[in-house]
Amino acid sequence: MSFELPKLTYAYDALEPLIDARTMEIHHGKHHAAYTANLNAAITGTILEGKDIEQILKSNEIAPAIRNNGGGYFNHNLYWELLAPGGSPEPEGDLKKAIINDFGSVDALKELFTKAAITRFGSGWAWLVKQNDKLVVGSTPNQDNPLMNVSEVKGQPILAIDVWEHAYYLNYQNRRPDYAGAFWKLINWDVVSGYFHE
Ligand code: MN
Repeated sequence: MSFELPKLTYAYDALEPLIDARTMEIHHGKHHAAYTANLNAAITGTILEGKDIEQILKSNEIAPAIRNNGGGYFNHNLYWELLAPGGSPEPEGDLKKAIINDFGSVDALKELFTKAAITRFGSGWAWLVKQNDKLVVGSTPNQDNPLMNVSEVKGQPILAIDVWEHAYYLNYQNRRPDYAGAFWKLINWDVVSGYFHE
């Protein structure tokens, strides 16, 4: 069993004009495809072969190639799933309650998360994670994620933004804040809520 590049549930141009089709094509078809192929190559013949991706990322000591490509494989799976053409209304129900409880308001969460995305130096990700019964925001460098022991922010990721330049540079050049702002218009909150309830 090897890991496979997931098919997107929407077309490459479906997130236009906020995320352009060419960026999507390269990001999914080249970057994510490479992480997937390189993860399969790195895992073959190791004790982690056959384990699911979360088990792999949570394991105590992972080789750099598995950390980088396993992170890249998992993080992008989540990112594509969280996005939807046209986005969706604000979070509701228990998720909304938890956000208000932990951050004060949905807008306060957005502000904190956007700041984490903008201030992550170089390449990486910003996250909303569930830590037991608490929600926290943080960021990680490169393809690290909150499931890994090495991560400063730990927990189950429920929302993620890719802030590598490959995620936005064609459309936004150096304007990462504009990309991070547009991201909120593309969120599928039902998916976030689904992970929140897991
Ligand atoms: Mn990426």
